[in-house]
Amino acid sequence: MGELAIITGASRGIGAAIAKKLAQDGYDVVLNCVSNVAKAEAVAEECRAFGVTAVAKAWDVADYDACKTALAEIKKELGVPAVLVNNAGITRDGLLIRMKPEQFDAVISANLKGCFNMLSLVSAMMVRAKRGRIVNIASVTGLHGNAGQVNYAAAKAGVIGMTKTAAKELGARGITVNAIAPGFIETDMTDVLSDEIKEGANKQIPLGHFGKPEDIAGAAAFLASDSASYVTGQVLVVDGGLAM
Ligand code: NAP
Repeated sequence: MGELAIITGASRGIGAAIAKKLAQDGYDVVLNCVSNVAKAEAVAEECRAFGVTAVAKAWDVADYDACKTALAEIKKELGVPAVLVNNAGITRDGLLIRMKPEQFDAVISANLKGCFNMLSLVSAMMVRAKRGRIVNIASVTGLHGNAGQVNYAAAKAGVIGMTKTAAKELGARGITVNAIAPGFIETDMTDVLSDEIKEGANKQIPLGHFGKPEDIAGAAAFLASDSASYVTGQVLVVDGGLAM
């Protein structure tokens, strides 16, 4: 059995690409999602083609007890994870003056509380093992803000603050904690944007186009690798130059 990586939100998009890349790099992988378990299982099947163990498992990262139960089962079946990628996330966009508290709460729960739940529970397991790599998927929106995304910006800025704090607390235990801030990446999350918004965005991106999930997977695999053993508390921006 190889080292174990848990990737949240791995049924599609960026999380699926990260799971496949880590499987290609030899990690056994747990692919979390909240509801599309058949899709996560299909991605797990692709991971198994690399000769590793891959398990698809549905639980809501916003639910602390559900995270605790899932992690206890994972530990029993597959051992303590060496890598955690907190990738699960949602958007519920709307302008500030029209945003409903439920829209705000939903985005904070999935993106920020979900990250805290997994980070706190998995880092406790890693502390005992005295090693670990944690990668939190934030967003350029958390660094620079974005009209229509006050909930998402708050959640992702929170993820960045959590990343730096956890890096300071866990460094002495041999655990690195870093964030990736993607720009526009081609997934279901950005598929809903109008052609007008996409064209406008492309004009702002020096590389001239949206990134692919694999662009983020490469950055995550680097941060999980031995090549990044002296990198912690950082935010790696992967956005085609959008937010300079
Ligand atoms: P996506 O295609 O919409 O996929 C979202 C994934 O998160 C799915 O696997 C979904 O599972 C899972 N998920 C959502 N809520 C969850 C919950 N409460 N518990 C467990 N899993 C949950 O999104 P994406 O574009 O790949 O985004 C992945 C991450 O990158 C997110 O954190 C997002 O904020 C961030 N990001 C994306 C972009 C972009 O342009 N796409 C840019 C910056 C940052 P189900 O399939 O079961 O629903």
